[in-house]
Amino acid sequence: MAENKTMEVAVIGAGVIGVMSAWQLAARGHNVTVYDQWNTPNDRGASAGESRIFRTLYKEGPDYVPLMQKSLPMWDELQKGLEVPILEMCGGLTIGPRDHKDVQAVIDCAEELDLDHEVLDQKEMAERYPQFGLDENEVGVFDPVAGIFRPELAVLTAREESKRLGAKYRPYTRVLNLRPTEDGIMVDTADDAQRFDKVVLATGPWATGATWATIFAPSMIQARRLVAGWFPARDTALHQPKNMPISIRRHPEAGFSCFPILDGTAVKILPHHLDWMNIDSPEDLPRLIEPEFVRAIERAVARLMPGLDPAAIRVSSWTEGFTTDGVPVVGPSPADDRVVLAFGMSGQGFKFAPAVGSIVTDYVSTDTSSDAIAIMSPTRFEQE
Ligand SMILES: Cc1cc2nc3c(=O)[nH]c(=O)nc-3n(C[C@H](O)[C@H](O)[C@H](O)COP(=O)(O)OP(=O)(O)OC[C@H]3O[C@@H](n4cnc5c(N)ncnc54)[C@H](O)[C@@H]3O)c2cc1C
Repeated sequence: MAENKTMEVAVIGAGVIGVMSAWQLAARGHNVTVYDQWNTPNDRGASAGESRIFRTLYKEGPDYVPLMQKSLPMWDELQKGLEVPILEMCGGLTIGPRDHKDVQAVIDCAEELDLDHEVLDQKEMAERYPQFGLDENEVGVFDPVAGIFRPELAVLTAREESKRLGAKYRPYTRVLNLRPTEDGIMVDTADDAQRFDKVVLATGPWATGATWATIFAPSMIQARRLVAGWFPARDTALHQPKNMPISIRRHPEAGFSCFPILDGTAVKILPHHLDWMNIDSPEDLPRLIEPEFVRAIERAVARLMPGLDPAAIRVSSWTEGFTTDGVPVVGPSPADDRVVLAFGMSGQGFKFAPAVGSIVTDYVSTDTSSDAIAIMSPTRFEQE
């Protein structure tokens, strides 16, 4: 095991994973340089869009829950003293037929780990949360340890905290190549080449590019487009985080994530039942959304969200990197363990980004991490 000494570390990519890594690396005494092809925060990748969900009862499986539990106090530390919170704990709901696999999965997760939860039937939901129109066979599983993020504020605050601890940022600087040498890893840009002891690759959906082909197989990541629409609430107070939990809906006619009002007017709906289009590269992200797509979100809102006007007042798209198995990649590259991979977050990465930053820092510092979860290991693609 390498000794825990100060190293020169490059972080490539300053989305939420990159800035959290920079924060943790700098806090543990490393000399950190963060490269991004844009500024930080930016809305080109996966870490922007007004809101994100934090939830603990995890339909994706109980393996992930320690990451949320580790991240929660780190989010608290980061937001201490801010006038506007990064993370508001408003609770969360998974809503759908009792026998839907995702509804069952959150109940199983709660039971397996003995986590607080309530299963509310249609009548109880109508009394407590009239914002959601449930069918008779639907239930709401309430997760008290859930909330809503302001993602841009999160990235900005982690950037500032990492800078305060000594991290240097190189905005508008695209990394063109990594060159492993005996003496370290050379990071090439159009302006210069710099040597580092270790490199953290936090390039989100850009992990697909041929640039990194010597470090890992780019085919393990697919960039996809996610779209969300905002819908005005008739009763805005009722749809604010203090009165409305975040939610995930699993109805036979539509599925979506639902985010209470942060802009003073509208609830954000991110559909899951409509195609998350594959894109060749994040540079090709279509920002103009097809009218048929918008109308399909509007139909879902008209059917399932009785307190919203089903006319989208704005619609936006972002891109995210998805792995073939839907599980993020976090750990040393099998090709060269001086490069730590942290990408392919597969639509999940915001909530546990501080824990990922800490795990990355463990790997950089000591070549191992007791917090790492085995399912995220990059070596899984080697075994295929
Ligand atoms: C619409 C949407 C909704 C989501 N909802 C949730 C949610 O509710 N809860 C949740 O937990 N997660 C959610 N996620 C997932 C989460 O937001 C992402 O997993 C997370 O933001 C990924 O961050 P990242 O740092 O890996 O990628 P990014 O934010 O994309 O950052 C990658 C950065 O790398 C830079 N870069 C790339 N290549 C280079 C290069 N060669 N040189 C220099 N810089 C480079 C890019 O410019 C970019 O800034 C959602 C994602 C999306 C898109």
